[in-house]
Amino acid sequence: MDQIRPFPPTDFIDQAEEEESIRLVPAVDLKEWVVNNFLTLGGALHNPDHDHIAELLHDDETVLAFAWASSAMIAKKRMVLGQCEKVMFTQGGWKKARQEQQMRDWFGFVPVYLITIDASFCEQASDRDFCALIEHELYHIGVERDEDGEPIYSDHTGLPKHYLAGHDVEEFIGVVKRWGASESVKRLVEVAQNPPFVPDLDVAKCCGNCVIN
Ligand SMILES: [Zn+2]
Repeated sequence: MDQIRPFPPTDFIDQAEEEESIRLVPAVDLKEWVVNNFLTLGGALHNPDHDHIAELLHDDETVLAFAWASSAMIAKKRMVLGQCEKVMFTQGGWKKARQEQQMRDWFGFVPVYLITIDASFCEQASDRDFCALIEHELYHIGVERDEDGEPIYSDHTGLPKHYLAGHDVEEFIGVVKRWGASESVKRLVEVAQNPPFVPDLDVAKCCGNCVIN
């Protein structure tokens, strides 16, 4: 059976182009696909690093939602193709009510985390690039860990203590050039020298774009 990776609806990209704006739409099928393939034991791209997300979702599916954005955005003068945010409304009153209403109208609930993905990128991205972008955003939902690397659970809720995680490595090429690689950069280089852990076959299994005999 061919399973096809989720593609964004094209009409909203056209509409955004006409309006010369960025439009956003809920991506319910994308969430389903991510849960089945990344967050479920036996899924083609299952990664135990995200087990805490699966656990959170199992307890309460409103913890995570996905949206498509019609095009990339520019932040700090760089193109942003994906974003994972902890949904927080700092303002009160009608502003907060309006923003919460938007979430409820889209998803039926106000999610804890919202992952937004650039639809125009995904429309033409390779399966590997698409999966890598999705997984990048999933890694932004971090779990607190003890010295042995085991997830820490909240006494209060009994669930993994999660937080919006920053990147493992953030550095300027110029700094590495002038001062050498830090421990985290060295670690990244070390990992990058190995072939990617996920084989093309597994990507094909859940994207369905390659023909498997
Ligand atoms: Zn990131």
